[in-house]
Amino acid sequence: MTYDTLVVAAHPDDAETQMGGTLAKLARLGQRILLVDLSDGEPTEFAKRGVRATQAADAAKILGVDRMCLGLQDRLIDDTPATRLAVASLIRQYRPQWVYGTSDACVHPDHAAAASIVQAAVFLARLGNWDQVPQGDLLADQQPWAVHRLFFPHCKMEPAWAQFGFAVDVSEVYDLKRAALAAYRSIFAPEDRLLALYEAEDQYFGRLVGTRYAEIFRSHSPLVVDDPTVFAPGMHG
Ligand SMILES: [Zn+2]
Repeated sequence: MTYDTLVVAAHPDDAETQMGGTLAKLARLGQRILLVDLSDGEPTEFAKRGVRATQAADAAKILGVDRMCLGLQDRLIDDTPATRLAVASLIRQYRPQWVYGTSDACVHPDHAAAASIVQAAVFLARLGNWDQVPQGDLLADQQPWAVHRLFFPHCKMEPAWAQFGFAVDVSEVYDLKRAALAAYRSIFAPEDRLLALYEAEDQYFGRLVGTRYAEIFRSHSPLVVDDPTVFAPGMHG
Protein backbone atom coordinates (compact mmCIF):
# COMPACT_ATOMS: atom_id res chain seq x y z
CA MET A 1 0.00 0.00 0.00
CA THR A 2 1.22 3.50 -0.80
CA TYR A 3 0.06 7.00 0.15
CA ASP A 4 0.05 10.25 -1.80
CA THR A 5 0.78 12.32 1.29
CA LEU A 6 2.56 11.55 4.55
CA VAL A 7 2.18 13.91 7.49
CA VAL A 8 4.52 13.53 10.44
CA ALA A 9 3.61 15.25 13.70
CA ALA A 10 4.75 14.95 17.29
CA HIS A 11 1.36 14.49 18.97
CA PRO A 12 -2.22 13.61 18.06
CA ASP A 13 -3.97 16.96 17.36
CA ASP A 14 -0.84 18.70 15.97
CA ALA A 15 -1.58 17.93 12.33
CA GLU A 16 -5.25 18.80 12.77
CA THR A 17 -4.38 22.12 14.40
CA GLN A 18 -1.75 23.09 11.87
CA MET A 19 -3.27 21.81 8.64
CA GLY A 20 -6.56 20.03 9.33
CA GLY A 21 -8.35 22.00 6.64
CA THR A 22 -5.70 21.18 4.06
CA LEU A 23 -5.91 17.49 4.96
CA ALA A 24 -9.68 17.49 4.60
CA LYS A 25 -9.37 19.25 1.27
CA LEU A 26 -6.73 16.85 -0.08
CA ALA A 27 -8.76 13.85 1.10
CA ARG A 28 -11.81 15.21 -0.71
CA LEU A 29 -9.70 15.52 -3.83
CA GLY A 30 -9.04 11.80 -3.59
CA GLN A 31 -5.57 11.76 -2.07
CA ARG A 32 -4.59 8.87 0.15
CA ILE A 33 -3.11 10.40 3.28
CA LEU A 34 -1.28 8.83 6.20
CA LEU A 35 -0.87 10.82 9.37
CA VAL A 36 2.02 9.59 11.54
CA ASP A 37 2.01 10.66 15.18
CA LEU A 38 5.51 10.25 16.58
CA SER A 39 4.03 9.80 20.07
CA ASP A 40 0.59 8.94 21.47
CA GLY A 41 0.54 12.23 23.39
CA GLU A 42 0.37 10.48 26.76
CA PRO A 43 0.13 11.37 29.54
CA THR A 44 -2.41 14.14 29.02
CA GLU A 45 -3.58 16.46 31.75
CA PHE A 46 -7.31 16.04 31.31
CA ALA A 47 -7.98 12.38 30.53
CA LYS A 48 -7.03 8.84 31.38
CA ARG A 49 -4.47 7.01 29.28
CA GLY A 50 -5.95 5.74 26.03
CA VAL A 51 -8.68 8.36 25.65
CA ARG A 52 -6.54 10.50 23.36
CA ALA A 53 -5.97 7.59 20.98
CA THR A 54 -9.72 7.16 20.57
CA GLN A 55 -10.12 10.87 19.95
CA ALA A 56 -7.28 10.80 17.41
CA ALA A 57 -8.97 7.95 15.54
CA ASP A 58 -12.23 9.93 15.48
CA ALA A 59 -10.45 13.02 14.15
CA ALA A 60 -8.73 11.02 11.39
CA LYS A 61 -12.08 9.58 10.33
CA ILE A 62 -13.62 13.04 10.16
CA LEU A 63 -10.80 14.33 7.96
CA GLY A 64 -10.66 11.21 5.79
CA VAL A 65 -7.07 10.20 6.55
CA ASP A 66 -5.38 7.07 7.91
CA ARG A 67 -3.35 7.32 11.08
CA MET A 68 -0.60 5.45 12.91
CA CYS A 69 1.58 6.07 15.94
CA LEU A 70 5.32 5.52 15.98
CA GLY A 71 5.36 5.00 19.75
CA LEU A 72 7.98 7.55 20.86
CA GLN A 73 7.57 9.05 24.32
CA ASP A 74 5.61 12.29 24.49
CA ARG A 75 7.69 15.13 25.99
CA LEU A 76 10.95 13.30 25.25
CA ILE A 77 10.94 13.03 21.46
CA ASP A 78 14.50 13.40 20.27
CA ASP A 79 16.16 13.73 16.91
CA THR A 80 18.37 10.64 16.97
CA PRO A 81 19.72 8.36 14.23
CA ALA A 82 17.09 5.79 15.25
CA THR A 83 14.15 8.21 14.93
CA ARG A 84 15.45 9.57 11.61
CA LEU A 85 15.78 6.05 10.23
CA ALA A 86 12.35 5.01 11.51
CA VAL A 87 10.67 7.88 9.66
CA ALA A 88 12.88 7.39 6.57
CA SER A 89 11.77 3.76 6.53
CA LEU A 90 8.10 4.82 6.57
CA ILE A 91 8.77 7.16 3.65
CA ARG A 92 10.34 4.29 1.71
CA GLN A 93 7.51 1.95 2.64
CA TYR A 94 4.64 4.27 1.72
CA ARG A 95 6.34 6.22 -1.10
CA PRO A 96 4.51 9.55 -0.70
CA GLN A 97 4.89 12.37 -3.21
CA TRP A 98 4.29 14.97 -0.54
CA VAL A 99 5.54 15.03 3.04
CA TYR A 100 4.50 17.55 5.67
CA GLY A 101 6.44 18.10 8.90
CA THR A 102 6.07 20.52 11.77
CA SER A 103 7.53 23.98 11.38
CA ASP A 104 10.89 24.49 13.05
CA ALA A 105 11.75 26.95 15.84
CA CYS A 106 8.86 25.57 17.91
CA VAL A 107 8.39 26.32 21.60
CA HIS A 108 7.64 22.70 22.36
CA PRO A 109 10.83 20.59 22.19
CA ASP A 110 8.86 17.67 20.71
CA HIS A 111 7.75 19.88 17.82
CA ALA A 112 11.30 21.11 17.20
CA ALA A 113 12.54 17.51 17.22
CA ALA A 114 9.75 16.44 14.84
CA ALA A 115 10.76 19.19 12.41
CA SER A 116 14.38 18.11 12.21
CA ILE A 117 13.57 14.38 12.23
CA VAL A 118 11.30 14.75 9.20
CA GLN A 119 13.71 16.92 7.29
CA ALA A 120 16.52 14.42 7.86
CA ALA A 121 14.28 11.45 7.06
CA VAL A 122 13.24 12.86 3.69
CA PHE A 123 16.91 13.23 2.78
CA LEU A 124 18.00 9.84 4.10
CA ALA A 125 15.14 8.04 2.33
CA ARG A 126 16.75 8.96 -1.01
CA LEU A 127 20.14 7.45 -0.26
CA GLY A 128 21.39 3.96 -1.10
CA ASN A 129 23.98 1.60 0.36
CA TRP A 130 22.43 1.34 3.81
CA ASP A 131 23.84 -2.17 4.12
CA GLN A 132 27.21 -0.45 4.58
CA VAL A 133 26.00 1.79 7.41
CA PRO A 134 25.98 0.64 11.04
CA GLN A 135 22.35 0.95 12.28
CA GLY A 136 21.20 1.07 8.64
CA ASP A 137 19.47 -2.33 8.65
CA LEU A 138 16.00 -0.81 8.61
CA LEU A 139 16.61 0.81 5.21
CA ALA A 140 18.92 -1.81 3.71
CA ASP A 141 16.14 -3.91 2.18
CA GLN A 142 13.99 -1.00 0.95
CA GLN A 143 14.24 0.88 -2.32
CA PRO A 144 15.30 4.53 -2.13
CA TRP A 145 12.46 7.02 -2.44
CA ALA A 146 12.64 10.73 -3.29
CA VAL A 147 9.58 12.79 -2.43
CA HIS A 148 8.35 15.64 -4.65
CA ARG A 149 7.97 18.13 -1.84
CA LEU A 150 8.50 18.65 1.87
CA PHE A 151 6.30 21.34 3.38
CA PHE A 152 6.01 22.76 6.89
CA PRO A 153 2.70 24.09 8.24
CA HIS A 154 2.73 26.88 10.80
CA CYS A 155 2.76 25.64 14.40
CA LYS A 156 0.15 27.56 16.37
CA MET A 157 2.29 27.58 19.52
CA GLU A 158 4.62 29.93 17.66
CA PRO A 159 4.14 33.63 16.93
CA ALA A 160 2.44 34.34 13.62
CA TRP A 161 4.73 34.24 10.60
CA ALA A 162 5.29 37.53 8.83
CA GLN A 163 6.16 35.58 5.69
CA PHE A 164 5.18 32.20 4.37
CA GLY A 165 5.67 30.23 1.19
CA PHE A 166 2.02 29.67 0.29
CA ALA A 167 -1.44 29.55 1.79
CA VAL A 168 -4.23 27.03 1.26
CA ASP A 169 -7.81 28.30 1.16
CA VAL A 170 -9.62 25.98 3.58
CA SER A 171 -12.87 27.94 3.82
CA GLU A 172 -15.03 25.24 2.23
CA VAL A 173 -13.82 22.49 4.54
CA TYR A 174 -13.47 24.49 7.73
CA ASP A 175 -16.40 22.71 9.35
CA LEU A 176 -14.44 19.46 9.04
CA LYS A 177 -11.37 20.99 10.69
CA ARG A 178 -13.55 22.32 13.49
CA ALA A 179 -15.16 18.89 13.95
CA ALA A 180 -11.78 17.10 13.96
CA LEU A 181 -10.42 19.42 16.65
CA ALA A 182 -13.63 19.08 18.65
CA ALA A 183 -12.99 15.32 18.79
CA TYR A 184 -10.17 16.06 21.25
CA ARG A 185 -12.59 16.77 24.07
CA SER A 186 -9.96 16.11 26.77
CA ILE A 187 -7.38 18.40 25.15
CA PHE A 188 -9.47 21.42 24.24
CA ALA A 189 -11.87 22.07 27.09
CA PRO A 190 -14.98 23.93 25.90
CA GLU A 191 -14.39 26.68 28.43
CA ASP A 192 -10.86 27.48 27.29
CA ARG A 193 -10.46 29.78 24.34
CA LEU A 194 -7.67 27.90 22.58
CA LEU A 195 -9.83 26.60 19.76
CA ALA A 196 -11.30 30.05 19.20
CA LEU A 197 -7.79 31.50 19.04
CA TYR A 198 -6.66 28.83 16.59
CA GLU A 199 -9.63 29.62 14.41
CA ALA A 200 -8.85 33.31 14.68
CA GLU A 201 -5.38 32.62 13.31
CA ASP A 202 -6.80 30.79 10.31
CA GLN A 203 -9.20 33.70 9.79
CA TYR A 204 -6.35 36.18 10.09
CA PHE A 205 -4.33 34.45 7.38
CA GLY A 206 -7.49 34.07 5.34
CA ARG A 207 -7.91 37.83 5.57
CA LEU A 208 -4.31 38.32 4.41
CA VAL A 209 -4.84 36.20 1.30
CA GLY A 210 -8.45 37.11 0.53
CA THR A 211 -10.33 34.05 1.79
CA ARG A 212 -12.37 33.30 4.89
CA TYR A 213 -9.91 30.74 6.30
CA ALA A 214 -6.38 29.83 5.26
CA GLU A 215 -3.58 27.60 6.50
CA ILE A 216 -0.02 28.66 5.77
CA PHE A 217 3.08 26.70 4.84
CA ARG A 218 6.77 27.10 4.22
CA SER A 219 9.10 25.17 1.99
CA HIS A 220 12.86 25.03 2.40
CA SER A 221 13.21 24.59 -1.36
CA PRO A 222 12.14 27.24 -3.86
CA LEU A 223 8.54 26.85 -5.03
CA VAL A 224 8.30 26.07 -8.74
CA VAL A 225 5.26 25.52 -10.94
CA ASP A 226 4.99 24.21 -14.49
CA ASP A 227 1.98 26.41 -15.07
CA PRO A 228 1.57 29.82 -13.39
CA THR A 229 -2.21 29.73 -13.90
CA VAL A 230 -2.51 27.29 -10.96
CA PHE A 231 -2.58 30.21 -8.53
CA ALA A 232 -5.89 31.28 -7.04
CA PRO A 233 -6.92 34.92 -7.56
CA GLY A 234 -5.00 37.35 -5.37
CA MET A 235 -6.80 39.89 -3.21
CA HIS A 236 -5.22 42.79 -5.10
CA GLY A 237 -4.12 40.97 -8.21
ZN1 LIG B 1 2.02 18.99 19.83
